[in-house]
Amino acid sequence: MPTIDLHTHSLVSDGTASPRDLVHAAAGAGLDVIALTDHDTTAGWAEAAASAEEAGIALVRGIEVSTRFRGAGVHLLVYLPDASEPALGDELARIVAGREDRVPAMLARLRELGIPATEDALAAVSGGNQVTGRPHVADLLVHLGVVAHRDEAFARYLSDGGPAFVDRYSADLLDMLARVEEARGVAVIAHPWGRGSAAVLDEPALGLLREAGLAGVEVDHLDHDAAQRAELRAIAGRLDLVVTGASDHHGTGKTGHDLACETTAPDQLDRILRRAADLGSPTALVGAVR
Ligand code: AMP
Ligand code: ZN
Ligand code: FE
Ligand code: FE
Repeated sequence: MPTIDLHTHSLVSDGTASPRDLVHAAAGAGLDVIALTDHDTTAGWAEAAASAEEAGIALVRGIEVSTRFRGAGVHLLVYLPDASEPALGDELARIVAGREDRVPAMLARLRELGIPATEDALAAVSGGNQVTGRPHVADLLVHLGVVAHRDEAFARYLSDGGPAFVDRYSADLLDMLARVEEARGVAVIAHPWGRGSAAVLDEPALGLLREAGLAGVEVDHLDHDAAQRAELRAIAGRLDLVVTGASDHHGTGKTGHDLACETTAPDQLDRILRRAADLGSPTALVGAVR
């Protein structure tokens, strides 16, 4: 049976390995299928696709899109969309611009706290990424010796409401689901009951989102305990939503999220592939599932 991990990050966003190294690491970890789902960008797709052929594993090209629903942040995994569709691309560009805009404000907050957090210092620790996030600012705090690791940086400075937290633009979830459909992609909510979004994503809300085009939910994620997984799986069954599982690997940037630590069943991947094909997406699986 193939081993499938449908949610990973490269250093194009806030992972720590290049798309090429990530794909080779996935093959080394025994995976047969990996999805690259960098935050709000497809910039890593081409390198990952070429590397998947080299490494002999299959690649699902995806994105983890920052959205908002009823006041809560919701991460939407979008699989196999047409990346050239402006309805999707224009909104991703707006999200990325919002990410770039907030970075100077976060650095200014840190300087007010007496920490020498300059743009040059940030550039020195975050080389290579296209999409900047709080994890890069966390890496700067580690580099400056202010904290020991990313987790401590979030706990002390960067988590929502923290002293250096600055909000940014996110897409409206319902609007994004419509754009994903236009781009012929397949939408799956990442860690629906993890940090932040648990309260708003109850069964009636998931039913409404399904009507708006949602295809599935990520059930097997380290942010969910056993009871949450059982309940979410039951809801997915009742709503006929695809059930996925994945590591949410960030390289060395997030501890515990090793490649393949959580996986997706082959029949659920088939549902995703079939839906993209039925919608006529030009973005196919790279390689074949062994
Ligand atoms: P941003 O996208 O800039 O708002 O930052 C959110 C990112 O930070 C997400 O990708 C999370 O995976 C990551 N993140 C959130 N909390 C933590 C934490 N405690 N340690 C490491 N990474 C975190
Ligand atoms: Zn991330
Ligand atoms: Fe996420
Ligand atoms: Fe993620």
